[in-house]
Amino acid sequence: MNLHEYQARDLLKAAGIPLSDGDVAVTPTEAEAIARRVGGTVVVKAQVHVGGRGKAGGVKLARNPAEAAEYASQILGMTIKGLVVNKVLVVPAAEIATESYVGLILDRATQKPVFMVSDAGGVDIEEVAAKTPEKITRLAVDPRYGLLPHQALKLALALYRDWDQARAAMKIMHQLYTVFMTNGCSLAEINPLVTTPDGKVLALDAKIIIDDNELDRRPDLAVLRDESAEEPSEVTARRANLTFIKLDGNVGCVVNGAGLAMATMDLVKYYGGEPANFLDIGGSSNPEKVVNALKIITADTSVKVILFNIFGGITRTDDVAQGIVTATQQFKVKVPIVIRLTGTNEKEAFRILESVGMTVLNDMDAAVSQAVALAKAAA
Ligand code: GDP
Ligand code: MN
Repeated sequence: MNLHEYQARDLLKAAGIPLSDGDVAVTPTEAEAIARRVGGTVVVKAQVHVGGRGKAGGVKLARNPAEAAEYASQILGMTIKGLVVNKVLVVPAAEIATESYVGLILDRATQKPVFMVSDAGGVDIEEVAAKTPEKITRLAVDPRYGLLPHQALKLALALYRDWDQARAAMKIMHQLYTVFMTNGCSLAEINPLVTTPDGKVLALDAKIIIDDNELDRRPDLAVLRDESAEEPSEVTARRANLTFIKLDGNVGCVVNGAGLAMATMDLVKYYGGEPANFLDIGGSSNPEKVVNALKIITADTSVKVILFNIFGGITRTDDVAQGIVTATQQFKVKVPIVIRLTGTNEKEAFRILESVGMTVLNDMDAAVSQAVALAKAAA
């Protein structure tokens, strides 16, 4: 689950990380009132779940309350990378001497939280990573011992030569690590961490992603979910108990099991296609789930073909077949459907689908390559 910057700031503040005051507004008038209260130059910032807001025109410096209202009216309602801005954060503007990057992610390769820091911070850390990877210092933390003082020092010294600033940064590393570990984060990031001309170290941006699995035991975090800011298809899928991630390709995939879903996406790529989504209908799939899955996928107009890849273990393939037939009777599916089924009750599944004139395949390679060819022909 992505948090908004203003929500992430609250978690960082609670841990003691230095951040400016400020508040969120949903109207220009509210933004103006916050700017008046804060005083001086403020920054008006779009609250959306993507980075690069600065470059997209979603971060603006306003010299007075009237200007804050003006910028808020421009930013509220604008679309950044497909997401509509419903809220803006208004904070006092800091003067910037240097901009650094501090990130902490859960790294699957080392199975540890890994810090990444760089004194080339600000915008576009991805570009720094691609072009000048030597400017990024990486450090894996053993969760049994936590972040050790000498590790925090190493990170801090990668950013600052000044001892006072390095000490301040060390403290921030420890605080960020605490936030990460106590809130089930998969990412916690400050970009930029700035120094001001008078030498202070200050966090100017905050990004946090919380592992969805943390939310059952943390209702205080679960309430931070803002569905109005999420991909609508992902919200619908979550409500229907489907694991769904929207992607940019045109081959819609309906698969049971996360592993098979990953393997299917790999195979789509192998045959030169691009998956439109990751979708796991889960174990005991009732026909209802299949109907919901098809509704979500067909709502995406970039989908040119739908590929079913079902391995029947606990999942009964005849349930899935019934779901496909029910769905196509309920609403018109305008794109071709390629179906691969194997396993539990497959004879019955084949009978159900063939009785309505649908073709079924047994072989995964054959199904995936056919789906990719159909997508290419339609693109
Ligand atoms: P992002 O582009 O979505 O990561 O949004 P950020 O919050 O990181 O803002 C982008 C850029 O705007 C920063 O890297 C800064 O250069 C600038 N910026 C943000 N806050 C301030 C501020 O308080 N003062 C000044 N001078 N610039 C700011
Ligand atoms: Mn940023």
